[in-house]
Amino acid sequence: MKDKDETTVADDVAANSLRTFAVETRGDTFSNALRERIMKELIHFHLVYDETAPDLVISVGGDGTLLQAFHRYLSGLSHTAFVGVHTGHLGFYADWTAEEVDELVESVVRKSHNIVEYPLLRVAVSYSDTNELKTYLALNECTIRSGEGLLAADVLIRGEKFESFRGDGLCFSTPTGSTAYNKGLAGAIIHPSLASIQLTEIASINNRVFRTLGSPLILPRHHHCQVKPVNDARFSVTVDHLSTLHDKVKYIECSVAEERIRFARFRPLPFWRRVRDSFIG
Ligand code: NAD
Repeated sequence: MKDKDETTVADDVAANSLRTFAVETRGDTFSNALRERIMKELIHFHLVYDETAPDLVISVGGDGTLLQAFHRYLSGLSHTAFVGVHTGHLGFYADWTAEEVDELVESVVRKSHNIVEYPLLRVAVSYSDTNELKTYLALNECTIRSGEGLLAADVLIRGEKFESFRGDGLCFSTPTGSTAYNKGLAGAIIHPSLASIQLTEIASINNRVFRTLGSPLILPRHHHCQVKPVNDARFSVTVDHLSTLHDKVKYIECSVAEERIRFARFRPLPFWRRVRDSFIG
């Protein structure tokens, strides 16, 4: 049987379907030099450099660089595919090494590839003083903290109150983000073929007065979760590496997004092998 990821949506896409590309770099000297090399070689093979609507985005650096690339090319998610080269330690999204760059270029130019799609997290912030709804997409996770001190918030699942949370904060992660901050919060590792989000607590207070579930919670598609302020409505929210402050928050809603991220796979990369290689060795 062919060894492929369960999330593969397109088998054997022709190499010439990748006509335009962009390269995102971490910005250090080594990654920048590698970017120049990749650009030169792909342009030599008649691919066109295009930062507006590229077919392929190559990220050169680490997982943080891929997160940066994801947020830069958000508007083209339905057609842009991503691939990551790491110039530091093995990354979760950045799985090609600097030494393999020639093989990657050769694969982009000559080989057919698969497209695998992974679920994303939708975050919507609603305010008490306006009708505005600010929405964000996260590739890894969103964290919600108080703008100042302890977070006191009600957690609702599908509109029904689930618990009252007191503590440092809450983390909602995607399946591919489950190996990032979520793992540090003792969350489970979720296979990305499961369209789901995971809620983990960040240092909750549990005593006679305050009680939370205390376990990570995994929600399927369509089971949205709302976080509503109890008193202080000033929230600090992170979406991947980006951080924002929100005043007069009515609620923050997290759910599985309609959109998905697409990765170009030029060779098999089973998820569990990546988990093993990253964490067990
Ligand atoms: P960064 O690029 O230095 O990333 C921090 C670390 O997280 C790196 O070692 C990176 O390889 C790893 N990482 C990122 N995404 C991963 C994933 N999906 N699976 C496994 N490891 C992953 O710093 P940044 O650009 O600020 O990255 C932001 C990310 O850092 C956040 O999305 C969050 O997941 C992670 N983070 C982790 C912790 C923690 O584990 N305690 C705390 C804060 C942030």
